[in-house]
Amino acid sequence: MNVEILAVGTELLLGNTVNTDAADLSDRLAALGLNVFWHTVVGDNPGRLSDAVSIARARADIIITTGGLGPTYDDLTKNVLADCFGKKLVFHEEEADFLRRFYERRGRPMTENVLQQAWLPEGCQVFHNDWGTAPGCAFEAEGVHVVMLPGPPYECLPMFDHCAVPYLRLLSGETLVSRQIHVFGLGESDIEARFREEMEHMANPSLATYAKEGEVMLRVTAKAPTEAEAAALCEPVVEKVRKALGSYVYSVDIDSLEALVLKLLKEKQLTFAAAESLTGGLIGARFTALSGASAVFRGGAVTYCDEVKAGMLGIDAGLIAEKHAVSREVAAAMAQGVRKAAGADLGVSATGIAGPDTDESGQPVGTVFVGLAAADGVWVRHLTLGSRGRDRIRTISASNAFDMLRRYLTDLPVTEE
Ligand code: ATP
Repeated sequence: MNVEILAVGTELLLGNTVNTDAADLSDRLAALGLNVFWHTVVGDNPGRLSDAVSIARARADIIITTGGLGPTYDDLTKNVLADCFGKKLVFHEEEADFLRRFYERRGRPMTENVLQQAWLPEGCQVFHNDWGTAPGCAFEAEGVHVVMLPGPPYECLPMFDHCAVPYLRLLSGETLVSRQIHVFGLGESDIEARFREEMEHMANPSLATYAKEGEVMLRVTAKAPTEAEAAALCEPVVEKVRKALGSYVYSVDIDSLEALVLKLLKEKQLTFAAAESLTGGLIGARFTALSGASAVFRGGAVTYCDEVKAGMLGIDAGLIAEKHAVSREVAAAMAQGVRKAAGADLGVSATGIAGPDTDESGQPVGTVFVGLAAADGVWVRHLTLGSRGRDRIRTISASNAFDMLRRYLTDLPVTEE
């Protein structure tokens, strides 16, 4: 089944709001095995929305709208869609009751237009909104399935997961299982080249690659009458990819390096600390975004200038002067220093040149040293990332720190040298 996502909202056309709903829904729809072939954005204008629906219904099996379900005059998605498919709007007393109670609980007066949200296309399945006020819905008309979701991402996405997914699953009568294989240290084109043949010929399960900052995710998706059968179809492909890519595969279904590191540190009851220069706290921020981080993360130090590196981490100032702050030796000393200062089992560090200009050492932009210190050794990775922008250089540097940790914790070689 082919899907068109139809985002409604003038703010999206003006560039005030980025259409993140379309990106996030597409990601989820791909995991369900549904092909998203079109993203359309249309302003809060009934004529143009109606035209967009005419185009969408002629080419898609499923139209998913976002936005325009609220109580204000420009919230016209339901009215236009109902009109396009020849459906009347019906008043839903339970939804109206919910809205009245919602306002009562907050001690706020409810204006009459709020109840506009309780009018929904006749015969639809109502998606009650536990994350806001405007309900969504789904209906089938003339062979097309229409799913309507609110615009705010914190409403749209949970409603998709909890309400639209069960509806969409029923349409196919089959169960979909997808497994995500996460790879660090290999490029997407390299991986694609290895599996191109399979990817072109495989239908069930299917295999696709997705690149994100310094990482690649391979998604294996299978359809079958039952979940167990679909999972069994995925298994040999997952194994084949794992075998082919070896230790570059850091996880199946754990979706970040830091989440895997957290799991491994907990299992081994070890702690770590981070000394960060060019990453400026990114390693700590990414790790502490995970719940449960406090059990294994002792802390971090953002040591940007030479004196602070020497003072806070106890590094010999002479070493920094001699070798330069962006060097293998200083990265090693930073990792050892923070390990000791924080009383952690492991210390990681990152020092480098994020650009766009190089520093007085004259080393090229993108030169980064990432260190790991443990009781039984110190390792440093020398990265040459080129001028790919500060954000990417910093993200990839932090990911390398996590990759070194996960390799150490799983008894793999920490560096290639
Ligand atoms: P509400 O009940 O909040 O009015 P709604 O369904 O009417 O819900 P809109 O009024 O269209 O939603 O949008 C509300 C806000 O949600 C927008 O101002 C914008 O910040 C955000 N939003 C809307 N559509 C999108 C989208 N496609 N991607 C990301 N954010 C969006």
